[in-house]
Amino acid sequence: MAERIVVLQKGVLVVTGGSRGIGAATAELAARDGWSVVVNYRADEQAAHAVVDRICADGGKAVAVRGDVADTGNVRRLFAEADALGTIGGLVNNAGIVDRRQRVDEMSPERLERMMRVNVIGSMLCAQEAVRRMSTRHGGNGGAIVNLSSVAAVLGAPGQYVDYAVSKGAIDTFTTGLGREVAGEGIRVNAVRPGIIDTEIHASGGEPERVAQMRSVLPMKREGSAGEVAAAIVWLLSEGASYVTGAILDVSGGR
Ligand code: NAP
Repeated sequence: MAERIVVLQKGVLVVTGGSRGIGAATAELAARDGWSVVVNYRADEQAAHAVVDRICADGGKAVAVRGDVADTGNVRRLFAEADALGTIGGLVNNAGIVDRRQRVDEMSPERLERMMRVNVIGSMLCAQEAVRRMSTRHGGNGGAIVNLSSVAAVLGAPGQYVDYAVSKGAIDTFTTGLGREVAGEGIRVNAVRPGIIDTEIHASGGEPERVAQMRSVLPMKREGSAGEVAAAIVWLLSEGASYVTGAILDVSGGR
């Protein structure tokens, strides 16, 4: 007799910036792994709903929730809407931005503030909401957080976007610090550090050809896919990673 595969329902997973790229791939893979997924997005409602539709067509459970992670009120509302779906057990701090190629001495204060506000403070605001719900200290059942760093945190991105690299360096430190802070409260906190991944983020930084231009200098002579990063994220969320916390996993093809 064929063995029956039972998909155990996990809790609710909030994926910020889930409407495209790595976030969308993570939302879809996590849904297949049994999570009920909140697909957060900032502006592209159609793209977010397309992700939700694909998950539901695949037999999964998902909702799309608009909200800017840089806005405290939006983040509170995002988690309130996630509460309505069930018990929150996971957060993927994926929403992130780059900006156009500039030297540090050319960057405006507004650019610097926006970069830190979205990439760093946005991730910290979402983690606060998740910890308040998941920590056993607050009566929660535990959970897992995965932050999106970047190899830029290590390379520094000179002449390109040092501000972005700095924001991802902060994410590495946040992963270490929060991971240790809540390790005894049932919450694991890890990060992935992607290399060059084929998504629209490069075009949003004014360089749609960046992936093609970089390909030949990458150790594996190819870029990564959003699905390859999603696989690492979903593993870090899973019971398979039950003794992994405070870890920063390079998903960069050796870069
Ligand atoms: P992407 O294709 O540009 O997608 C970004 C996602 O984030 C979109 O869903 C976007 O939603 C959302 N978003 C942007 N600002 C937001 C905000 N303030 N609040 C809520 N959502 C927001 O990016 P990606 O390449 O998949 O990157 C995802 C993460 O991986 C980022 O943190 C990035 O820094 C990191 N990463 C990417 C690479 C790479 O090569 N792709 C490498 C290293 C690290 P809307 O479309 O609605 O704006």
